[in-house]
Amino acid sequence: MIRRMGHRRNEPREAIMAKRITKQRLEELRRECHREVDEGFDQMFGNDGQNGLVTFTEREERACQVGDRLSCWLLETHISLDQAVETPGECDCPLCGREVPGPTAEEQNKPPELQGRRVRSRRGPIDLERAARRCNPCRRVFFPLG
Ligand SMILES: [Zn+2]
Repeated sequence: MIRRMGHRRNEPREAIMAKRITKQRLEELRRECHREVDEGFDQMFGNDGQNGLVTFTEREERACQVGDRLSCWLLETHISLDQAVETPGECDCPLCGREVPGPTAEEQNKPPELQGRRVRSRRGPIDLERAARRCNPCRRVFFPLG
């Protein structure tokens, strides 16, 4: 069963999207991304347009490193925005399918329980920290947004 979880059923997708990020935060991320690109440019070209890279293999290796780093930044940052979407609703445990109730009113006033994990992407490892839910029957922590 593939279904987007972690938000109230019947909540329009637009409402979810609207909560994902503010315009201001998006612009901050754009600037962070440009800094990442600038850093990659420097690693490739240095101050002299060559940065010590002479052979094809050296240049290829560096270009791939720079690209991989940018890919990982993009993926990690994109996923990191998911935790902002956490809503109080119930969701289904991805393992047993049981409904896991949302946090209580008291729990909602506290920051959500975050769980860090390292994931291997096609371009290298990325670190994720996301709001986690616990399924008591399974005794497993999972990530509501899949
Ligand atoms: Zn379960």
